[in-house]
Order: sequence, then C-alpha cells, then structure tokens
Amino acid sequence: MGIKIVPRYGNTLKDKLYLPAIFGGMKTTISHFTKNLRDTTNIKTQCYPEVGPIDITDRYRGVHRLTHREDDSVRCVACFMCSTACPAECIFIEATQRKDGVDEKMPKKFEIDLLECVFCGGCVEACPCDAIRMDTGIFTFIAQKREDFVLNKEQLLANKSLGEEK
Ligand code: SF4
Ligand code: SF4
Repeated sequence: MGIKIVPRYGNTLKDKLYLPAIFGGMKTTISHFTKNLRDTTNIKTQCYPEVGPIDITDRYRGVHRLTHREDDSVRCVACFMCSTACPAECIFIEATQRKDGVDEKMPKKFEIDLLECVFCGGCVEACPCDAIRMDTGIFTFIAQKREDFVLNKEQLLANKSLGEEK
C-alpha cells in the first residue's frame, strides 16, 4: 500500500520566526477592536447577566419540573424509572401510597441534585407518564450552599414551563 507523506507545516524561515503570524493575528484583533469602538451595534456578545438570552427554545433542556394532573395534584406515580435511567444517579425518590384513589403511589420525596445532574434528559425520556420535564428554560441556578442546589418536590412542582412564564 502506498504511503503518502504529508510535509510538516512550518518549515520555512517565515514560519519558524513566529513573528509574522503573531503580527497577523494582532492585526485582525486590532481591526475588530477599532471597528467595534466606532460602532457597537455589530458586537455579537450580550451584557450577561444584565441582558439574558432571548433565543431559548421550548426544546432547550433547562432545570426540571414535575408536572400536574388536571386536579393540580402531582402526576408522578413514583415508579423510579427516571432515577433508574439517570446516569448521574442524582434523583432521589421516596414513594408513598396514594390515598385519593387517583393512582396507587406518589412521591413523598422527590429530589434532584443539580450539581450532579448532567442535563442529559434521560429522566424525561424514561418517564412513562410525562411527569417530569426540562422545559422551564431555566439555564442558571444560583445558590450559596451545596444543599440549596438539591431541588425538592415542592420546588419542582412550582417550576413552570417556558411557555407558562411568557
Ligand atoms: S437530566 Fe440526566 S443527569 Fe439530570 S436528572 Fe435527568 S437523567 Fe439524571
Ligand atoms: S417522574 Fe416519571 S419516571 Fe420518575 S418516578 Fe415519577 S412517574 Fe416514574
């Protein structure tokens, strides 16, 4: 089989000096800098966090929420499918018997550790009854203590979908 030898890039004296490449890069940077100083309307960055992104779509995987039934009760039936599918093992569920006759079980505790979550969406895919979604559009979550990053059932139920927030 024929072997194709690819010549190593950077063998000329100009390449070995590095200076032409450095000045070439600086020329591009300075030209952008002076252009943006004269006209700021073309700058493609946002003053985050003062200005938030406006292009978050419904399919964006943000912070989770637990969905409600028509009677506003929790839809989750504590089947543990999501926690079993979770690759980060960051969903903690404690089941309890449901006494209102709507279903057999419901979560007594439902917690998600956002510091361990990798936002893969596996829990949403695994849920057989559309009880968990990641359509809140929340892409940042700020807290002072590690334990505050663990969302409990009430917080997850209170989260709204991106459409509801609009
Ligand atoms: S998004 Fe992925 S990592 Fe996060 S809780 Fe769901 S399954 Fe686990
Ligand atoms: S959120 Fe869905 S998959 Fe997870 S325990 Fe509840 S019903 Fe099962």
